[in-house]
Amino acid sequence: MSSHTLEQFLNENLEDLKGKGLYNVIDPLESPNGPVITINGKELINLSSNNYLGLATDERLKKAAAGAIEKYGVGAGAVRTINGTLKLHVELEEKLAEFKHTESAIAYQSGFNCNMAAISAVMDKNDAILSDELNHASIIDGCRLSKAKIIRVNHSDMEDLRAKAKEAKECGLYNKIMVITDGVFSMDGDIALLPEIVKIAEEFDLITYVDDAHGSGVLGDGAGTVKHFGLSDKIDFQIGTLSKAIGVVGGYVAGKKNLIDWLKVRSRPFLFSTSLTPADVAASKKSIEILMESTELNKKLWENGNYLKKGLKELGFNIGNSETPITPCIIGDESLTQQFSKRLNEEGVYAKAIVFPTVPKGTGRVRNMPTAAHTKEMLDQAIAIYEKVGKEMGVI
Ligand SMILES: *Cc1c(COP(=O)(O)O)cnc(C)c1O
Repeated sequence: MSSHTLEQFLNENLEDLKGKGLYNVIDPLESPNGPVITINGKELINLSSNNYLGLATDERLKKAAAGAIEKYGVGAGAVRTINGTLKLHVELEEKLAEFKHTESAIAYQSGFNCNMAAISAVMDKNDAILSDELNHASIIDGCRLSKAKIIRVNHSDMEDLRAKAKEAKECGLYNKIMVITDGVFSMDGDIALLPEIVKIAEEFDLITYVDDAHGSGVLGDGAGTVKHFGLSDKIDFQIGTLSKAIGVVGGYVAGKKNLIDWLKVRSRPFLFSTSLTPADVAASKKSIEILMESTELNKKLWENGNYLKKGLKELGFNIGNSETPITPCIIGDESLTQQFSKRLNEEGVYAKAIVFPTVPKGTGRVRNMPTAAHTKEMLDQAIAIYEKVGKEMGVI
């Protein structure tokens, strides 16, 4: 028997969302998540994945994953702290530390999980966290879980950060104070002002935490935003995901050895959730090795990103101020944005509309994620479709 209260809650809220056109319908893929995808039997140029380097379908990674399955099976069998740590996990973590230029690293089951794990292992109710207002949902949830006082900072506003850091330090209420930020903000493609953040952190003795989910594999010749600014020894927590440019799934923290040692005994997803599968670990390790050996894919990603930006800009679209390959196409009105994305889809481009409340009201955009796997022909075709739909709908 189903609870009446639950039924009522679900019906009312689902109807409300559907009535407002905000209920997200998911389109399953019938193909790999590559540069061209198949949905409902139709091929579409894919500008929506985080598979920045095309590694999710790379033959070398597939081979590494298949080999690991042959050797170790499909599951790790336990949590890391019991006996779910395979030698493969240790090798991946050593590789990650090398990749991030840190003493040590620890892997988790996802980037989301990583923020659940790391923040609350160090921060508690007697502490404060200065958090950029546009930080990722998993950072927000990780901060909440810690029970520390969360102090919202205006997006990339260094005056606001400085004032709030000063106030938090001088009020004497907090044992520890952390500043936490995305490395790259995924809605606009802008980069955190890490040199200034580090300066403020040094002045007020703040713990520094950078979640570089969208920066790793992209900035700093692939090593990420912290490396891009040459600040590897100044950031306490470098968070990364294995799910975006790396092409697999998982997350990690890279930092000093004593920090990682602490996370191994205190971070709950490490202690209470089964470790990454052998296939994921082997594929991720291969991926990092490829990134460290060559910048070829990284260069191609930037080339494609710049090509798409130039094409859309020349047509008269507002592409914002992205500093990375992420290319928003800002339409403005929410329903116009959704209609625009739908028309692109009908014409053969898969690019998602992102609207309020994910981005501020009136700044609805179709967000494009070009990758290293796109060919010039695919991008030309996408730009031509943008032109057709843009003119038809009076956006350009
Ligand atoms: C995508 C993202 C995550 C989540 O990573 P997953 O590995 O997909 O769980 C965490 N933080 C930021 C900033 C992200 O962009």
